[in-house]
Amino acid sequence: MAKILVVAESRGDVLDRATLSAITMARQASTLLGGSFDILVIGGPGSASAADGLTCYGAEHVLLAEAPDLSVYLAEKFVGTVSRAARDYVLVVATVTDFGKDLLPRVAGCLDAAYAADCSAVISHNGELSFRRAVYAGNVLGIVTLGTPVRVATARQCEFEAAAPTEGEKSPICTLPTAGPVRAAAFIEVLAMENPGDVPHLPAKIRAAQCSAASHANSAHTQRVAKQRRGQLGEAKTIVSGGRALKEKFFEVLGPLANELDAAIGATRIACNAGYAPAELQVGQSGRIVAPRLYFAVGISGAIQHLAGMKGSKFIVAINKDPQAPIFEFADYGLVADLFKAVPEIVEHIRTHRASGAEIPLDPEDCKKRCRSWSSSFGSSLKRDMHGA
Ligand SMILES: Cc1cc2nc3c(=O)[nH]c(=O)nc-3n(C[C@H](O)[C@H](O)[C@H](O)COP(=O)(O)OP(=O)(O)OC[C@H]3O[C@@H](n4cnc5c(N)ncnc54)[C@H](O)[C@@H]3O)c2cc1C
Repeated sequence: MAKILVVAESRGDVLDRATLSAITMARQASTLLGGSFDILVIGGPGSASAADGLTCYGAEHVLLAEAPDLSVYLAEKFVGTVSRAARDYVLVVATVTDFGKDLLPRVAGCLDAAYAADCSAVISHNGELSFRRAVYAGNVLGIVTLGTPVRVATARQCEFEAAAPTEGEKSPICTLPTAGPVRAAAFIEVLAMENPGDVPHLPAKIRAAQCSAASHANSAHTQRVAKQRRGQLGEAKTIVSGGRALKEKFFEVLGPLANELDAAIGATRIACNAGYAPAELQVGQSGRIVAPRLYFAVGISGAIQHLAGMKGSKFIVAINKDPQAPIFEFADYGLVADLFKAVPEIVEHIRTHRASGAEIPLDPEDCKKRCRSWSSSFGSSLKRDMHGA
């Protein structure tokens, strides 16, 4: 019987809700394959309680791999245990979060398994279990069939609804032994050679690097991921995203707006690369794919790679000083204004509105009206209303 493994994401005893999307994917795949699924919880002390919270989702077993040195996520420490647990499954899934994106390709590598990232659906294609996923920056939907005995896939949180608990018996919890850390990739070992210049086929840049620097960067990255993975972007109903125009004032300007709207903060790749925002906040083709109800694009040009990550948002508001910015082609509302003036005014507007005792319902229709009034109060021009309202 075909068996599927869901790799759950948790911090101590707290389960990350993103896991519920991977469970939905596993349920759909197990229906197509006529099999069942297990859920693996891996982490430090307290994980047993997270595992307990997953016993009511219809899994055949909940597997628990718990050890003190797994309390902080580090890919190198997790990958051995997950790969060993996963080798007898036909499909291994997790949700597209920093955790899933970081861990599952490594698991696929360890198992020599084919990997489909960012899937939006599980389907049967020519009688084979296949995955639908966006390619070419989200402009084309591709169907991918994986031809290895173990397959690995990640589920987009915005495409797979959170699984609901099932009636009936609870899944039994089985304890798994943990495996030791898996060392970094082979090329890092090559760099460890005393004289890397002796390896002529390596690009000069790589040859010049030092092993210690490479492995340090690797663990620094994963530790940063560990610290900052919050799952907020994937779950947020409202996202306030900023581009490089915000510079060092990224959080100073966007923070108050995000607070007022109870929103998560996102960023463009350039803003992340420039160090204005952490990489975990990147939205887009090579970052997070999000589909909130309301997406504020502040000082974002609207490059195709950014759009690929947010164009599924129900309602897009763009603020940009350039009336020709491509983002306006996709925005439901666009404000042509200097963001450093407009954003604080919007925040002030919301605060005044709240102080008067009025609620700020974050409904797209309400937002339409609100944008109109903001626009007139700034004297800025309202660029475009694609809904014609
Ligand atoms: C393979 C690949 C993958 C990529 N993946 C991603 C990805 O995942 N996510 C992503 O975002 N990008 C990605 N990119 C980069 C992408 O092509 C763009 O370069 C990037 O999205 C642009 O970021 P930006 O809008 O912050 O900057 P810019 O394009 O420089 O735009 C800045 C905008 O701010 C406006 N502005 C400036 N000052 C103000 C002001 N005071 N008030 C209001 N507006 C102002 C400008 O008019 C401009 O429109 C990728 C690129 C490649 C090649």
